[in-house]
Amino acid sequence: IDEYLIDCYLITAENMGIDATLIFNKSDIEHDADKLHNMADYYRSLGYSVIETSVETGIGIDTLTEQLKGNTNIFVGQSGVGKSSLIQLLLPDQDIQVGALSAATGLGSHTTTTTILYHFPNGGDLVDSPGVREFSIWRYNEIELRQGFKEFLVKSEACKFNNCRHLTEPNCAVKAAIDCGEIAPWRLRHYKKMLTEAAENELLP
Ligand code: GDP
Ligand code: ZN
Repeated sequence: IDEYLIDCYLITAENMGIDATLIFNKSDIEHDADKLHNMADYYRSLGYSVIETSVETGIGIDTLTEQLKGNTNIFVGQSGVGKSSLIQLLLPDQDIQVGALSAATGLGSHTTTTTILYHFPNGGDLVDSPGVREFSIWRYNEIELRQGFKEFLVKSEACKFNNCRHLTEPNCAVKAAIDCGEIAPWRLRHYKKMLTEAAENELLP
């Protein structure tokens, strides 16, 4: 699992006003179950829905179907996690190209640019194209980044400085929350990495 990528997508969703659901697919495959469940619980505590699925065994597909109902959805995530397989399962009448992207070159040189709106048989829509599935434009400024980390936003009211960056400032409530285990340390790590990338982006034309 690319945990950093998860947070990048979540920060994007927060800033775009999109409700995000996390799908942990391939749950039939052996994995670090403890770590996965810890992560799932943490994201649930922030208010996100987390669904474990498997295209192989069908686990979680009913829950996912329910979640998609009544919404316009997009599936995003890195190549190979099973997005097209899930979409094919949910849209049995459509011919979704499973593995099409990775099979071409692994680099997405297979560029289908058409974006299609599908209707799920049980309700809900899907906006889809390979470009949509792997979109990765996050160019947010510091303030937007901090707003995307929901639990920081709540805690930061107790930071000594109201423009606290949660880096080296004294009496930072976010750091205090990490020290006492209320905020997951990886969230601050990802925030710092995003800050660095945002700073690098600002140097670009
Ligand atoms: P995408 O790049 O995210 O669209 O991923 P694909 O749907 O192309 O899936 C990549 C590979 O993972 C394919 O070989 C799928 O058959 C396989 N796959 C997808 N979902 C599952 C799953 O739930 N369990 C297992 N074991 N394999 C899966
Ligand atoms: Zn702070």
